[in-house]
Order: sequence, then C-alpha cells, then structure tokens
Amino acid sequence: MPLTIEYEGTLYRPPSEGNSLILQATIGCSWNECSFCAMYREKRFRVRRIEELAAEIEAARDQLGATVRKVFLADGDALIAKASYLHAILDLLRTAFPRLRRVSCYASPQALQIRTVDEMSALREAGLTQYYLGVESGHDTVLERMQKGVDAAEMIRVANKAKDAGIKLSTMILLGAGGAELSLEHARESGRVISAIDPRFVSTLVVTPVAGTPLGDDAERGDFVPMDPIALTHELREFVAHTDVSGAVFRSNHASNYLPLGGTLPKDKARIVETLDAVLNAPDAAPFTPEQFRGL
Ligand code: SF4
Repeated sequence: MPLTIEYEGTLYRPPSEGNSLILQATIGCSWNECSFCAMYREKRFRVRRIEELAAEIEAARDQLGATVRKVFLADGDALIAKASYLHAILDLLRTAFPRLRRVSCYASPQALQIRTVDEMSALREAGLTQYYLGVESGHDTVLERMQKGVDAAEMIRVANKAKDAGIKLSTMILLGAGGAELSLEHARESGRVISAIDPRFVSTLVVTPVAGTPLGDDAERGDFVPMDPIALTHELREFVAHTDVSGAVFRSNHASNYLPLGGTLPKDKARIVETLDAVLNAPDAAPFTPEQFRGL
C-alpha cells in the first residue's frame, strides 16, 4: 500500500535515501541563500509541530510496520531545529519502528555552527547518525560567489565538529561552480578541503543554473557560463587526484553528472583517475550522459 503522507511543496532527498521513509521535520531551509539552490525558494522556513510528525509516524507505522529501517528528515536543514524537538522525533521513531537502523538529514554549515558536539553526540546516540553536507567547494572565492555563508576554513571546522560527535558525513562537491576561470583551483582546493574533513561518503554534482536563482540570473546575463562535459571531466579528475581520505565511498551518480562513476577512496583512486584520463584522451568516444537525460 502506498504511504499516504501529504508532503508540503516539492520534496528533495539525496539519491541514497531512495528507500527511506521521508518526514518533513522542517519546511524549507533556514539559510535559503545559496546562489545556485532553487530547492526551497518558494518555502518560508519553519519547524513543524511535533503533533504533525507524531501523526505521520503513526500513519507510517500502520501502513509500513516494521519494514522501516531508514528515515530521512527533510527539508533543507532539519538539524537547525532545537535539539529537544529532534529528540522528540527520534523517540517517536524508535518506538514506532523497532528495526530502525539509521536516521539522517541535510545539515547546513549554519546548523553545524549552532549545534554543539555534545548535542550532536546525544542525537547520534538517539539515532540521528548521518548528515549530508553540501561543501560545494574548497575555494574561498567560489564559496563566496555561491553564497554559502562560510569560507573553506569554517567549513572544515564545522564538519569536524560533526565528526567529533561520531556522525557519518556524506559530503557533496559542486562541479562547475567556479566556472572555467576557477575550474582547476576549485577542483584542487575542494580536494584539499574534503581531505581535511575526511568524510565517509563523497559525491559530486554538476552545477546547473536555474531560473529565479542568483546563479540563474548571472547565467542569463552571461556572467556565468556553464562548463562543457570535457572541461567538467578535467575538473573531476583534478578533484579526485587531490583528494586524500582514509576511506570513503565516492559517487558521481547524481542525475546532474555527465559521467556516472563510483568506487572507494583511496582504493580506487588510481583507477578513477585513469578512467577520467582515458576520457580526456579520447573525448569523442566518451560515454557522457546526453543532456536530455540529465536532471538537477
Ligand atoms: S543550505 Fe542547502 S538547502 Fe539551504 S540554500 Fe544552501 S544548498 Fe539550498
């Protein structure tokens, strides 16, 4: 039986949460400033009432029963809500779903600035074990243009707070965010920052200017020019080559990518770099995803 939760507005989730029960703990994103992000522009940020979540969890338990093992707390940065509210949700989830293995959410850098290590640690013990963090770039100019609200040093600091709390971090880098002008510096600095964060998961997305966002406006004026698949492949190659992590799953399988790749770093680093070099040496034969099959 399909689950009958009425979600408010468009719902977004990471690709790896495709089989998770999704609950909107918050509506929208409290930051909502990133120049490329169109996800929550139409939503005014608010924390939902716990009674609404309780009713949805009860409905999900009635319809899905013990099958629920993974829950994703939407929308943009549920972690910014008060710790007591998040604990209340986690208590309800643990009671409703005895086989629950993981609760995860997006975490904005701003939420990570606010949360203490002790709070995140206590929430992890209650079940909130994984955050998705849009690092986007390790280059300060690119981060400023993307209006992330933090520079690279601050991104590393707040990400490491979460790691100190024992949180599994899944980080995203935005290919093409520096445009052609800053491409390779953006790639190398992003590799440096991801190495300093040393997350469990690393993925890449390709920036896509969307109408109605500051980046979309820049693209319309010609101030931002999206990069072609070959230049993006070069950027991805440099990013992977400059990423030294102790053990992370790497994916470029988000629908926005031109080349779906995957592996484990550092084990598969040389193979991934070789694959990308082979593409760059024979770009006409490259298996790029056709433009019409790409998504945001
Ligand atoms: S923090 Fe995330 S959800 Fe919020 S505006 Fe930035 S990219 Fe979008």
